[in-house]
Amino acid sequence: MTQDIFNQSAGYLKKAVPLMIKYQVPTTPTNYALWYAYVSEEIPQLNQELDALLDGNKICPPMRAELIYRHHVADKTDSQTWQLRQSVDAMLCELTQSVKDTRVDSGKFQRAIEKSFEDLHRVEDEGWSIEEVMVLIRNLAGDTKRISNAAKFFNHTLEKSQQEIESLKKQLAATEKLALYDSLTGLLNRHSFDAELTSLMAKNNQGLCLILADIDHFKRFNDQYGHLLGDQVLKSFGRRLNDSARDGSQAYRFGGEEFAILLPQSGLGRARQFAETTRKLIEKLSVRDKRTAKSVDNISASFGVSEFRTGDTLTSFITRADEQLYEAKRLGRNRVLPITS
Ligand code: GH3
Ligand code: MG
Ligand code: MG
Repeated sequence: MTQDIFNQSAGYLKKAVPLMIKYQVPTTPTNYALWYAYVSEEIPQLNQELDALLDGNKICPPMRAELIYRHHVADKTDSQTWQLRQSVDAMLCELTQSVKDTRVDSGKFQRAIEKSFEDLHRVEDEGWSIEEVMVLIRNLAGDTKRISNAAKFFNHTLEKSQQEIESLKKQLAATEKLALYDSLTGLLNRHSFDAELTSLMAKNNQGLCLILADIDHFKRFNDQYGHLLGDQVLKSFGRRLNDSARDGSQAYRFGGEEFAILLPQSGLGRARQFAETTRKLIEKLSVRDKRTAKSVDNISASFGVSEFRTGDTLTSFITRADEQLYEAKRLGRNRVLPITS
């Protein structure tokens, strides 16, 4: 039974990897989980969405793929991760066995050759012509060399795969520790933000925009209503941001009461508009204080927007948005800056 699961998951992984290479998908554990789910065909909706995404595309768009992952796979992360581990283990077992088998085969072959040489002595004793014997020896020698070369090559390949899989295993273990999501708001966390921004800046930076949002006078909520209500405000704020994200934009908890939205292929004007719409939505936000049964509804946030410029580093790009945010605070809060694009 366990062997069946091993074989099945090894089969899925073997199917997934060539597809990932074909669509130039970075080999991150998230992507492994997504493509593993795809080839397993266990979630038909996921397959439909990914097929539609790939239709006519040579490269799988990373952000949209991430959304499909989040929608269909992330909820099952634990079981998926477990399956992934199983499949890596299965491949390791299989390869280790193959290496052993090859060694056994070479050993067997060597013994067969030795026996053939003994037989040749006998043939000599029995009076074969030297030409006949030479033909036999030549054939045997040729075979030996061919088989020995093949075995060497096979061994080398298998050992290399073994090393690759070991490193994949380590990578998986490290990622299991690094949660991608913020536990309070459920949004992607700062680590995910940095990873996605780095990837977008390298590959898809045309019109890429960043919005930084910081809740106004948040400390007052904590002071006035307590830390737990503060947490509730953060949750509702995060949900509202996540719900308003569209066209490939993605919200993150940047840290504390600060949030970030990445908008690929947007341009400053559209990003500003998006921030302005979100700002108005936040103004309408209302959180119920369970202790007093009263609603807290004076929630607002300030926004700073920046557009990617050639030569930008992660820091320079973020700093520009942060400076705008600072200016929005200075000018009285509850506003979006810059005012014009
Ligand atoms: P400003 O309008 O200038 O942004 O004022 P502010 O009060 O929002 O900013 P400040 O940086 O002074 O305070 C941020 C507060 O956010 C301080 C910190 O205790 C609180 N905070 C950070 N993370 C959390 C959290 O996870 N839960 C709660 N309840 N509070 C948090
Ligand atoms: Mg702050
Ligand atoms: Mg604040």
